[in-house]
Amino acid sequence: MSLSNELDKVFLDDLKPLQGVPEQTRLRLLRVVVVGIIGISYLLDAILLFLFTLTDTIYIHVPLYYGLAGLGHVLTFSSLHWSGFSERFENPHMTLWQMVYAICTVVLGLMLAPQISIFFLGHLIVIFTFGALRIRLFELISVWLVTAIAISLAIVFNHNAVPTLIYDELIVSLLVMVSFSLFLLRAIAIGYYGYTMLIRMFNKRRIFENEASHDVLTGIYNRRNLRAILAEQFSLHSRKAIPCSLAMIDVDHFKLINDGFGHVGGDEVLKGLVGLLRHEIRESDKLIRYGGEEFIIIMAATNLSEAEIHLERIRKCVEQFHCEVLPDDFSLTISIGLTEMMEQDQSDDLIGRADSALYTAKRAGRNRTVVQIDNLTEDHKPVFGE
Ligand code: GH3
Ligand code: MG
Ligand code: MG
Repeated sequence: MSLSNELDKVFLDDLKPLQGVPEQTRLRLLRVVVVGIIGISYLLDAILLFLFTLTDTIYIHVPLYYGLAGLGHVLTFSSLHWSGFSERFENPHMTLWQMVYAICTVVLGLMLAPQISIFFLGHLIVIFTFGALRIRLFELISVWLVTAIAISLAIVFNHNAVPTLIYDELIVSLLVMVSFSLFLLRAIAIGYYGYTMLIRMFNKRRIFENEASHDVLTGIYNRRNLRAILAEQFSLHSRKAIPCSLAMIDVDHFKLINDGFGHVGGDEVLKGLVGLLRHEIRESDKLIRYGGEEFIIIMAATNLSEAEIHLERIRKCVEQFHCEVLPDDFSLTISIGLTEMMEQDQSDDLIGRADSALYTAKRAGRNRTVVQIDNLTEDHKPVFGE
């Protein structure tokens, strides 16, 4: 997924009216809207150029040319966006190509109406500021260089093509051009600086989001994500009757490990155990650190009997697990409470049943899997926070 798309998604996330619309359509719509705004800018310029014609500064064909160029821009790029063609590009806005189109329009405008060259040169600042928001620095500099050369050539071929005032000597015209180009380059630098700041903030946001939803010690999901993962499974269960099993796992006598090998040793055991669990679960399963040495595995599209076979295999793997901090003859064991999603279930019912099954497994002597499908009575139902 391109960075450009990711930035668009952050923007779209905040637009409430579009929240029900599929993501691809939302992204295409956004690109078309951006082209629409550029179209409005062309229209405004065509009106301004028309006002110049009223003062007899330029001919009527100049605003007409500008209006038609704007129409061409809007029709070309909005159809490329809406058809999905532009999604082949790393930047699906096709910013570079929109810039090239707009710059060609400006250079032609300069040739057609050099007497108002400031009007067209000013446009280049707008175009490059727009480009600095999305295209790569080397592309930006390349387009800037080609633009400066194109305008310089226009001056060489038509001495009076660019400066607002008509200079007698070619060298003065070229000096004005060089000054303008360097002015433009600084504008690009400022725009690009803003863009890089945006990217940095965006990446920081990604890191914060990741830290907020993942456990620091083991790197797996923490319980902040539990509700969201369960909500997705509940929806699949009620809409498509896809089963889902949930297992709560607790390490047996973990206090003894901490007491015997220190908390640092305990941490290493937890990390090692998580490595093993991650290896043993399937890609569609979700592993969550629920508490200190308690974990939840959510098994999508898995009924109770399949889940039990799978968990028993995991439990036996843990028995064989060797962690560097533990002596070779030390057998780490886990107890497992297992349940399956049922109709009318709420998250707390599901977790409550697994927790109750885990409690039974502990009382029955640990190192075992216990299944529970009956709901708890209201009096015994635990209340689970976020
Ligand atoms: P049981 O078989 O009944 O589960 O016995 P237990 O000793 O495992 O009992 P309990 O679950 O109550 O104890 C969990 C211990 O895990 C207590 C706590 O100090 C320790 N613990 C919780 N989080 C961490 C952690 O992040 N690192 C380490 N090293 N220890 C932790
Ligand atoms: Mg515990
Ligand atoms: Mg324990």
